[in-house]
Amino acid sequence: MKIPFIDLHRQYMQYKKEIDKQIAEVLDSSMYIGGEKVTLLEEKLAEFSGSKKAIVCSSGTDALLLSLMALGIKNGDEVITTPFTFIATAEVIVLLGATPVFVDIDEKTYNIDPKKIEEKITKNTKALLPISLYGQPADMDEINQIAKKYDIKVIEDGCQSFGATYKDKKSCNLSDIGCTSFFPSKPLGCYGDGGAVFTNDEELAKKIKMLLNHGQNKRYKHKYIGINGRLDTIQAAVLLVKLKYFQNEVKQREEIGKRYTKLLKDSDIITPYVKSDRSSVYAQYSIRVKNRDEVISRLNKQGIPTAVHYPMPLHLQECFGHLGYKEGDFEVAEKVSKEIMSLPMSPFLDKKDQDSIVKELL
Ligand SMILES: *Cc1c(COP(=O)(O)O)cnc(C)c1O
Repeated sequence: MKIPFIDLHRQYMQYKKEIDKQIAEVLDSSMYIGGEKVTLLEEKLAEFSGSKKAIVCSSGTDALLLSLMALGIKNGDEVITTPFTFIATAEVIVLLGATPVFVDIDEKTYNIDPKKIEEKITKNTKALLPISLYGQPADMDEINQIAKKYDIKVIEDGCQSFGATYKDKKSCNLSDIGCTSFFPSKPLGCYGDGGAVFTNDEELAKKIKMLLNHGQNKRYKHKYIGINGRLDTIQAAVLLVKLKYFQNEVKQREEIGKRYTKLLKDSDIITPYVKSDRSSVYAQYSIRVKNRDEVISRLNKQGIPTAVHYPMPLHLQECFGHLGYKEGDFEVAEKVSKEIMSLPMSPFLDKKDQDSIVKELL
C-alpha cells in the first residue's frame, strides 16, 4: 500500500485538459508576466473571498512581507504573532528590521490565544499577525477588537485557511489584510510558488500592487522601495482552472476531515477541534499523540506517509536567538509541538485508504 500524503497527481488528472489548454494559451501568447489572466484571477479571487481587492504575488511569504511593507513596518516596530507556525510568518517581520513578539496558542485550536495578547502590547506594537493554522480561522473578532482599542492593524496569515469560513465570512477577508499562499500543497495550490493579499482598503491595495513591482507607479517611476513579487502568468492560468473547482474541493476536504474525526472518536488520540462558528479547510489534518515517534514509524512501515507541522516552535529556533526567548516561555506551543503529527489529507483521499490509515492508528 502506498498512499500519497497529498494527492496532487490525481487532482491534475481530473483537470488536465483544462489546465493544459490554459498553460498552452500562455505559452502561445509569449506573455509570461502579467496580462489578462492575472487580472482575471485577481477579480475571481476577490469575488471568492468577498473582499474588494485581491492582489496576486509570488508567494505566501511575499504576501506577508508586502502587507507589512504596505503598513510601513520598520526597524523598532513590534508585530505580535505566535511561535507555533511556519517560519515565514515571523521571518518577514525580522527581514524588515522589526521584532516578532510571540504570544502562546490556545491548546484546543492551536491558534493565538486572544486572552494573552493585550499584556504583550507596547507603544511599539504596530500590528497583530494571527495565523489561521491548519485551515481554521483564528478568533478574529476578539483580535480585531483588541487592535481597534490600540489603533493597530491586523493581518491574517491565511496561508493555510483559504476557503475556510468564520461567521459566514471567508478567511482572508476577516481583518485589514489577509494573506494566502498558493504553494502546491496548500488547499488552493498552483504549480510553483504563488500567493495573494486581500483587503477592502483600495489605497492599501494600490500600494501593495506597486510594492510588488519595485514600487513602480508608472513605468520606470518608482514611488517606493519595493520588490519583484509578481505572480507568473502560467501560475495564474493554473489557478484560474483550479479556482473553478475549489469550493467543491473545500467541501470534500471538510467531509474527509470530519470523517477522520468521527473514526478516531473512541481513541485517546486528540483530533482537531473546530469551533462551531467557523469551518476548517484542513490544510493539514493534525492529531496529537503521546508516543509520536512510535506512531509515525508504525504508519510509515505500512506505506502511510506522515508529517510534523511543526516540530520546533519558533522561539527556540536558532535564527531567532537574538530575541532572547528560552525553553518554557510558551508552554502550550512547546507541548503541542512534541505531540502533533499530520495524516494524509487531500480532497481525493479514498474512503478505503482513509480506513486503512485509521486502522493502523487504532
Ligand atoms: C505556507 C505558509 C506560509 C508561506 O507561504 P509560501 O507560499 O510557501 O511562501 C506562511 N505562513 C504559513 C502559516 C504557511 O503555512
